[in-house]
Amino acid sequence: MARFTRVFGVRQLRVGFVRGLRFRLAVSYVAFFAVLLAAIGISFRQHLNNEVEADTEQTVTSDWEAVKIYLHIKNEYPVWQADLTDPEEGFIVERLRRIYFLADSDGNVVQNSELYASIGLESPEEIARILAGPSTGEFKIRRDKDGIPYMIEKGWMHDDDGKDKYFLAIGRSLAPGYKTVSEFTRTYLLIAPAMLVLASLFGWWLAGIAIRPLNSVAHAAQNVTGSNITVQIPLRGAGDELDHLIDSFNRMTERLHQSFEQIRRFSTDVSHELRTPITAIRGQLEVALFTAETPEQYRESIINAMEDIEKLSSIVRALLLLSQAESGQLALQKAPLDLCEVAADLVDQFQIPAEEKDVTLTSSIEPCAPVEADRTQIERLLSNLLSNAVKYTPKGGSVRVIVGPAREPGWTKLSVEDTGVGIPAENLPHIFDRFYRVRNAQTNSIQGLGLGLSFVAWIVEAHGGRIDVASNSGVGTRFTVLLPSGPEAAEPAAAESGTLTSNESRHS
Ligand code: ADP
Repeated sequence: MARFTRVFGVRQLRVGFVRGLRFRLAVSYVAFFAVLLAAIGISFRQHLNNEVEADTEQTVTSDWEAVKIYLHIKNEYPVWQADLTDPEEGFIVERLRRIYFLADSDGNVVQNSELYASIGLESPEEIARILAGPSTGEFKIRRDKDGIPYMIEKGWMHDDDGKDKYFLAIGRSLAPGYKTVSEFTRTYLLIAPAMLVLASLFGWWLAGIAIRPLNSVAHAAQNVTGSNITVQIPLRGAGDELDHLIDSFNRMTERLHQSFEQIRRFSTDVSHELRTPITAIRGQLEVALFTAETPEQYRESIINAMEDIEKLSSIVRALLLLSQAESGQLALQKAPLDLCEVAADLVDQFQIPAEEKDVTLTSSIEPCAPVEADRTQIERLLSNLLSNAVKYTPKGGSVRVIVGPAREPGWTKLSVEDTGVGIPAENLPHIFDRFYRVRNAQTNSIQGLGLGLSFVAWIVEAHGGRIDVASNSGVGTRFTVLLPSGPEAAEPAAAESGTLTSNESRHS
């Protein structure tokens, strides 16, 4: 069995904690911070390590110079010459001999320290390789059997006679330097989690501040209803994306308000427009029912009722047509069309209503290239413009239709100008909106639904054209339609509508 439940009130979408923007922003921030911390830690540690090794290399280099002072090889025998009464010299020599290895050019070990033996004595091949190279400058990090690292410099020196070359290697422990590095690492690893916790709290707080305006937009949007549409959120004045969002939201509610207002006004207008013929039909039928006696009287009542029914159906037709046009259901039947002929026909048709109103209707039609257009729609366009011109021009005024090639090649111009009541500047931007009517002392008595110009705008747009309106209250109005009439039609110039008046509006 199918069921349907209508829910009243505001439906709220619950934002899951983990999927919430605040959580995701904070997590991204913390993740970024963690990567940054790790990168800083690793590169700093590496830098410290390099510094320690470079420092030790320098120390070993100065040790090498000292060895050359204190170590002498006489008759293939190494002698350390130092003034042993000087405690400082004694200490220096003692230190130099801690990590020390001496071999002759055949690779035979001449002398070595115990510590060097635990690091590993050099092979004859290695000794031969070093003896073949420069005397100093080859450094290598090696570890003893306990894993303690040493910086070793290998090279060679001559004996005191300057005849034979001897392989020499000396070194220094890297352990104190490495200890500093590992102490730094340990301290950093202790501080980093604490910094991450602080960063998380800060990120959470920051993300909260960042999304606060979003929450206020969401809250305001929840309060928007048909009767409370003018909700406005105050701008923060930061000029950022969130202010842009708030501004867009405010504009949206303004537009919604205008649309609601239009629909409300339209409902009133439609009811009013429909009520008039319905009341008239009812009156005619009552006459037929209660007072008519002769067949002629019946006939007259029925004819009058039919006229009102025709008016009623034309209103319904217009509404239906506009909704079809705007929903894209109305397909255009385009064919080459002579605008001059259409304009001349319609001017003829409107002569009678114009004369009835004592309005002079004239035309100035120049031959021009045919336009690719739907005849019915172009007739509707011209007929709407002409009927408005006649409708809004008081007794004694004039209406003129002008057709001819536009200034730009490939365009045909069609103007309808009148010496009517004009359109105030503040109403001009809205006259093409659906159901929009100018309401003032001059227009209040004139009937209409505010749909005619919506049609006109739609027809012009569907033909790839443009419409300009220039008007001045109390002076007159000129509508200028530009339609493409050739393949060379480029974007037409802005000021085709001429210099009749000061207020202008454009729709394309
Ligand atoms: P309506 O049925 O009210 O004429 P339209 O959509 O045709 O609806 O026109 C919209 C409004 O534009 C009209 O209510 C009128 O105030 C104004 N308007 C249109 N054409 C003219 C004109 N030629 N002169 C003065 N006002 C005009």
